[in-house]
Amino acid sequence: MDRDMMEILACPMDKHAPLELFECAAEKGGGVDAGAIYCPKCSRFYPIMEGIPVMLPDDLRDRDSDIGFLKDHRGSLPEKITSGAEPWHL
Ligand SMILES: [Zn+2]
Repeated sequence: MDRDMMEILACPMDKHAPLELFECAAEKGGGVDAGAIYCPKCSRFYPIMEGIPVMLPDDLRDRDSDIGFLKDHRGSLPEKITSGAEPWHL
């Protein structure tokens, strides 16, 4: 994911922008391969997986996938995402 995308991304639940970017791993070309996008308005996080930001509303999210992602990246994401982020009330 190109970091410039942050300028056009908005939270799918409340349309808030700008969102916060937390990077876990870089792509070969220098973009973001793994990371999280955080909405400071509603405290939701959205995963970036294999360079793709997954910006889905709550009813289309996969809880197991999200929690697996957070476990995999626990060491490189802030606590507000790994233990306090919506929508899973972790
Ligand atoms: Zn939001």
